[in-house]
Amino acid sequence: MSAEADVRTLPDTVPPQVPIRVQNPAALDDALVRRLLRHAVVGARPVLHDTVAPFTGERATTLPISTEADVEHAFAMSRRAQRAWAQRTPRERARVLLRFHDLVLAQQAEVMDVAQIETGKARRDAYEELADCALTSRHYARVGPRMLSSERHLGVFPVLTRATLHHHAKGVVGIISPWNYPISLAVTDALPALLAGNGVVLRPDLQTTVTALRMVDLLVEAGLPEGLMNVVIGDGPHIGPHVVERADYVMFTGSTRVGRDIARRCGERLIACSLELGGKNAVVVRADADLERSAEIAERASFANAGQLCIGTERVLVHESIVDDFLRLFLARVEALRLVPYVGWGAGMGSLVSARQLEKVSHHVDDAVAKGARVLTGGQPLPDVGPFYYAPTVLADVTAEMAVCREETFGPVASVYTFRTDDDAVAMANDTEYGLNGAVLTRDTRAGLALARRIHAGTVNVNEAYGATWGSISAPMGGMKDSGLGRRHGVEGLMKYTEPQTVAVQSLIGFGSPFGRTDEQWAGLMTTAFKALKTLRVK
Ligand code: NAD
Repeated sequence: MSAEADVRTLPDTVPPQVPIRVQNPAALDDALVRRLLRHAVVGARPVLHDTVAPFTGERATTLPISTEADVEHAFAMSRRAQRAWAQRTPRERARVLLRFHDLVLAQQAEVMDVAQIETGKARRDAYEELADCALTSRHYARVGPRMLSSERHLGVFPVLTRATLHHHAKGVVGIISPWNYPISLAVTDALPALLAGNGVVLRPDLQTTVTALRMVDLLVEAGLPEGLMNVVIGDGPHIGPHVVERADYVMFTGSTRVGRDIARRCGERLIACSLELGGKNAVVVRADADLERSAEIAERASFANAGQLCIGTERVLVHESIVDDFLRLFLARVEALRLVPYVGWGAGMGSLVSARQLEKVSHHVDDAVAKGARVLTGGQPLPDVGPFYYAPTVLADVTAEMAVCREETFGPVASVYTFRTDDDAVAMANDTEYGLNGAVLTRDTRAGLALARRIHAGTVNVNEAYGATWGSISAPMGGMKDSGLGRRHGVEGLMKYTEPQTVAVQSLIGFGSPFGRTDEQWAGLMTTAFKALKTLRVK
């Protein structure tokens, strides 16, 4: 499958929107699925569930569903394996991540085939996720061991108090991941958790379980002990709470609505969680922006993964003086996107993942049109291309009472607004409950950087829409406001999976007043010592 897939590229002669007739695999290979299921915990006679391949609307595969007892079993196995794993040094654990980096790149074609079949995404979108896995594993393998090593700290009495900070693993981390970026989200949050010495129980979205199993398979091939990372299979509302109930830490990626529920459950158990939630991100195109480049960036940001990208763009804010020129270039690019249900390279935009997603996108556009929005291009489903395809759509005259204005659409729909001053642009970009990502496009980098700092979002890109921050793995990434809690990537993305422990040794002088001295005399001595330490700048 993989050798053939490596060279599979759409011929240029295929028109932009071909009717649905996928000539290459639309269903998953049953033997492959059976082999990968060894990483999942399911009972002897499980309930079965058919998943649908978005390119065709036909069966992708049949999956066994885990029960609550299976979740219990998965945690027990991870806990057992975790004890030995935590005994290894961070450097030994990092070697697994480095081998995983190589395997992901070497076996990319097969991984992307599975992800395309399960999600209906274009190959170029699958590659972005794959690259994220390679970058994240290499980054944490290189810098993580040092972050995890024990540190000496200046104690209360220098020399006499020796304090050391240790970073212990939390235990077993529960990861609940969505369907939109299944290659990356199945493992990139697990990699730092594993490096820190934890076990992992992963509940990937039911629709994209096989992609997740394939990634766990690569980790095991890279040397991860069997049983340390276990997959449980099922839909979120049923199986998710069982995972949260047993985890020592929860990493969730999904909607704000579900994120709140997870946070409440974690709060009751007094365990911490990290939540990567929704967004309503804006790209600001200043009057001095390079228009060709801006049109390319806005098109990619709005239609990457058919708009099902949390850090993608749903609002394009354009300076009023350039809006006509920008739109000419932007719309030309959008209309040239190739929409072809094809497992391989060549499509510009893929399908939506499901009928539910198609329904939501259609509802947002229809509601906007009914309330007076103008469709500049697109605006309807494309059943002739594939059952869940929706045309890349650009709207104008969008107003606050339309759902598309404030709610996350999570589809291929960009609304164009105009602004007059930088202050207007900042106010418009910030006029949302979300705060995930933002972008400023300008030839004046200094002005762009100044504007970026005023946008209330966890990541802001200048002259790019999401790739620059996403790919900068050593810096944290995540949401402000309703877009989340905690961060992935950077120091934060690793250390959140640890319990800090301070151990201090006290020598000679103790904390009680020495024999023969009153408490007052003792306090006087201490006060003199504190002042001396400040004067000498020891502390
Ligand atoms: P969703 O919240 O409905 O589902 C997300 C995942 O949570 C699914 O796999 C689902 O099965 C599971 N789930 C549902 N109910 C659950 C429960 N009660 N307990 C535990 N798990 C449960 O969101 P969706 O619409 O399927 O996914 C898209 C959303 O994810 C968007 O809002 C998008 O912005 C967000 N997202 C955010 C990021 C990020 O990094 N910030 C990345 C990708 C997606």
